[in-house]
Amino acid sequence: MQTIKEPVKNISLIWRHQTPEKTVYRPMKYLLKAQAEDGTLLYNVVTSEMILLDSNEAKVFESLPAMYSPEMDELIARHYVVKEDFEERKSVQQLRALLKKLNPSKRVTGFTILPTTECNARCYYCFESDYKRCTMTKEIVSDVVDYIAKVCKGEPVEISWFGGEPLVGKKIISQICEGLKQKGIAFKSSMVSNAYLFDENLIKTAKEEWALSNVQITLDGTEAVYNETKAYVNPKDNPYKRVLKNIDDLLNGGISVSIRLNVSNKNIDDLKILIDELAERFSGRRGLGVYSHAVYEDVGFDPLNYDDSARELVDEQTIAIDTKLREKGLLGSLAKMPYLRYMNCMADNDSCRIIYPDGIIGKCENRSSEDGIGDIYHDITNEKMDAWYKTANDIPDCYECCLYPYCMNLSFCPETGKCSRNKKEWKTNRYAGLMQRTYLKYKNNGSDVKEEDPTLAEECES
Ligand code: SF4
Ligand code: SF4
Ligand code: SF4
Repeated sequence: MQTIKEPVKNISLIWRHQTPEKTVYRPMKYLLKAQAEDGTLLYNVVTSEMILLDSNEAKVFESLPAMYSPEMDELIARHYVVKEDFEERKSVQQLRALLKKLNPSKRVTGFTILPTTECNARCYYCFESDYKRCTMTKEIVSDVVDYIAKVCKGEPVEISWFGGEPLVGKKIISQICEGLKQKGIAFKSSMVSNAYLFDENLIKTAKEEWALSNVQITLDGTEAVYNETKAYVNPKDNPYKRVLKNIDDLLNGGISVSIRLNVSNKNIDDLKILIDELAERFSGRRGLGVYSHAVYEDVGFDPLNYDDSARELVDEQTIAIDTKLREKGLLGSLAKMPYLRYMNCMADNDSCRIIYPDGIIGKCENRSSEDGIGDIYHDITNEKMDAWYKTANDIPDCYECCLYPYCMNLSFCPETGKCSRNKKEWKTNRYAGLMQRTYLKYKNNGSDVKEEDPTLAEECES
């Protein structure tokens, strides 16, 4: 047995080596498996360890469940193999609670800021269509800067500009950045934008003054479909052409771009044509990643109402679109293997805050300020925060899934419960590909692959 990737120290200290007993053993549920040239790769999603089994060791593993034999010793010690009555879900929950206690957030360093909830587009699926339209006033801008300075305690901060369309509030963004600079607070930023309002000068400002490193931009289809879906208010030119040019200019300006393809039952075929167009124009461009996302149902100006078969179709097609993106070399690569998470996203991460234009503080960018948990003058003030810590306890499919340690499934998250068998298989296949690439790296380096402890990452993810 060879160690391809060491386990996370924290976890192996708590999940100590198991001592074998004369009883029946089975594989631990939270494992990923992949075939390599020289044997079978196993990845333990709880400990983040990866090993390579030779053909004899693989035979022992494949013969499980079986009565204990000494060939199992190493697999048992490292939690690849467990006693039949082992409760891994309970064990993962205990590990999560312990890790959270051991790593308390001491400061707030991740902010999602909405300069405005106004937008220059009118997408039919916009989940903010019923939000109160509101833009940050000059007074609130200055109070936001004071609030960030108070809670970050001198640490560098990361800001995600969100809206509405954040560029409608570009002056506010500049004012907040200027305020942070004057207070000596280091920052970098990213943005979720439709990108229509960028031009060459604004891209320069974004790079130099806003320290903007990434923009997430949604495309809904080729020219006619995109323009009809976005329904920009009084556009001066062809929005589709302009946005594609802006993607080019952002990449040329050293700002990376994540293109999100919004998939619904209205645009599936058109998205496949769009992928060909994107491949022709952007293939091989540094800093570009494309991925798909099923659009929300029951929200927006013109809500989608799917029956079961329509939902299944969108689900299948989302996977087909990701497959095509991968074939064309456009799919954003998986940065790291799944690991045991004790926080899901910005919502249950104590070091992250969302700041709405009226100074209300929230936790989830897909919820309005009505679900706020406090304000910039008092920080977190109400019991709504407790709801964000709760995980959903009614998804038995997840308990048996090998990715359970990675998926927190917050009960208040609008995405919870939307996973399907197809999606799960798609995710595990992609991870199997990453295992094979990690193994090749190991073979070329001749040593185990070292990675920063992912459970220590305090950044806000969504
Ligand atoms: S661009 Fe975004 S904020 Fe604007 S209407 Fe579309 S979904 Fe809503
Ligand atoms: S959400 Fe999907 S991938 Fe995650 S644990 Fe549940 S079934 Fe598995
Ligand atoms: S993952 Fe869910 S809870 Fe977290 S920010 Fe996204 S939508 Fe909100």
